[in-house]
Amino acid sequence: MPDPGPALVLEGALVVTCDDASRAGPLSVAVVGDRIAAVGDPDDVRARHPTAEVLRCDGKILLPGLVNAHLHPELHLLKGMLEELDLHGWNEVEHFEGALDVLSAPEGRWLQRAAIRAALADALLTGTTTVQIYGITRGADIVAAEEAAALGLHGEITLRDPTFAPAPPGTPPHRFRLHAEEALTPAELAAAAAAHARGDALVMHAAETEHRIAAAIQRFGTTTIRLLDRHGLLSPRTLLSHAVHTDDEERALVARSGAPIVSSPSAELKLSDGIAPIADYLARGCTVALGTDAAVCNNSNDMFLEMRQLGLVQKLRYGADAIPAEQILRIATRGGARALGREAGTGALVEGGPADLVLLDAHNLRLQPLVHRPDVSNLAANLVYAATGQDVTDVMVAGAWRVRDRRLLSAQLDGVVADLGRAAAFLYDQIR
Ligand SMILES: [Zn+2]
Repeated sequence: MPDPGPALVLEGALVVTCDDASRAGPLSVAVVGDRIAAVGDPDDVRARHPTAEVLRCDGKILLPGLVNAHLHPELHLLKGMLEELDLHGWNEVEHFEGALDVLSAPEGRWLQRAAIRAALADALLTGTTTVQIYGITRGADIVAAEEAAALGLHGEITLRDPTFAPAPPGTPPHRFRLHAEEALTPAELAAAAAAHARGDALVMHAAETEHRIAAAIQRFGTTTIRLLDRHGLLSPRTLLSHAVHTDDEERALVARSGAPIVSSPSAELKLSDGIAPIADYLARGCTVALGTDAAVCNNSNDMFLEMRQLGLVQKLRYGADAIPAEQILRIATRGGARALGREAGTGALVEGGPADLVLLDAHNLRLQPLVHRPDVSNLAANLVYAATGQDVTDVMVAGAWRVRDRRLLSAQLDGVVADLGRAAAFLYDQIR
């Protein structure tokens, strides 16, 4: 077979493919350009790419890049500043409203950018390669699209426009947002339905709290999921963030429609929202993705911690066998890619798919002993319940290294940290 071009072959790692066959083991991965060119037996991959540059990855674990399907990046600046409150308690905190005003104002744009860059850099350094960015302050989404592109992350943004007018040409990849139940109006629902019918994708914080369910009933006489269904707004293009409070009939509606669910268990627990029925959604065949929500209510952008949190809290609700670790890895990779409508192959290591991958250093006690044999393996359990984003050493997005040996290549990390510190100091001077 002819050599298809200059290739890089990663050899010696323990590879978890998250592909249809759920292959895992001492495989090799070849990358050509922005694509995975081969995944398989090391001798076969070498034979197919005889002139490839070889990168030894002994002692490492190689995974597909993680997909963070729900992130409010500018709220990174408020980390630790809204503690011991539920979601609706935030509205009574004067400095929160003040901070959002500062971030939304033209003179606050540099704070917004500093926070967004920090959150996205944190996500990238901890193994995320694709992110759904949901800015809540004015202009945040366009800034976030710029910062994601500069860092080399795949992503999409959300647009807030109550008229749901078609986005102008050149708008970055996006979906429209219906923020949450208490903000919905009949006119907005009708406009969203028209946009959805012409092909636009949507996202909504749906059924997150009992308070919001009560708001839907009060305003529209029905619960959130039934309301969306009534307006033709449930489909594979409507991302349902949280979906904590749903009944049996609503879950059946979600499953039938193909609408994906994004779970953010750390935030949902910290805000005392409740425990989402994720194992139930999975049993019904729903697409489930994972997101870190916001550092203000998480307080992290680390998808490894989020995987652990999902596993633990689902065990509490559904029993110790609620969601196997292998399935949690797939939720954080392929599940996210599917929920966001990314191209086939995203979130897995498959030939022809995008070369988005992550290496973890397994030479530390957190990930040892690491046993992977045909008869026994703790690989998936170690990744979900023992690993953290601090174990990530290298991140490749679309065939380009963005993190090497724990060093961020696409921005000066010292500058990112310093700007964030300056922005926080300035903000707290303003809202004190
Ligand atoms: Zn959110």
